[in-house]
Amino acid sequence: MGLFSRFLPKRKPVEIKNNVPKEKANIKKTFGVYCHSHHNTSGDKLCPKCTALLATVMTKMHRCPYGITKPICDRCDIPCFGTSQTKEFRTIMKSTLKRMFLKHPVMTVKHKLASMGVDYAKHEQERKVQDKAKAREKAAKEKAKTKDETDKSKNKK
Ligand code: SF4
Repeated sequence: MGLFSRFLPKRKPVEIKNNVPKEKANIKKTFGVYCHSHHNTSGDKLCPKCTALLATVMTKMHRCPYGITKPICDRCDIPCFGTSQTKEFRTIMKSTLKRMFLKHPVMTVKHKLASMGVDYAKHEQERKVQDKAKAREKAAKEKAKTKDETDKSKNKK
């Protein structure tokens, strides 16, 4: 900390946005769109099966171990809804994409961008792991090569 540091602009702490309420609203709307078209429901009402699944999803989201830093549920690596319910949930989210785009375009585009962001972050993470593994492999090979060369030069003597 120098003398002039008090006059310099202070760095703002990184803000973590809480996107959970938006995601919940998106999921509720998606379930509505899906249930209305597949189970002939209307308005705010959903069929019992969709209601049960939606209730499970909402409860699990409320208790999400990631907290507000959670990824979007349809891109989660350790989905917590159980195998069959996760499958059903992902089917609903995927199959209603076009209808959601027609009914709620802004929300759908935002959700799609968030999914792409998660995919990109995952891709980058994998790439970094692969790069590290390659660098380790290369270093091991070079070490073995230099060891061989020193052994050969010792044997010549
Ligand atoms: S599926 Fe993943 S992101 Fe969604 S609530 Fe469960 S643990 Fe959290």
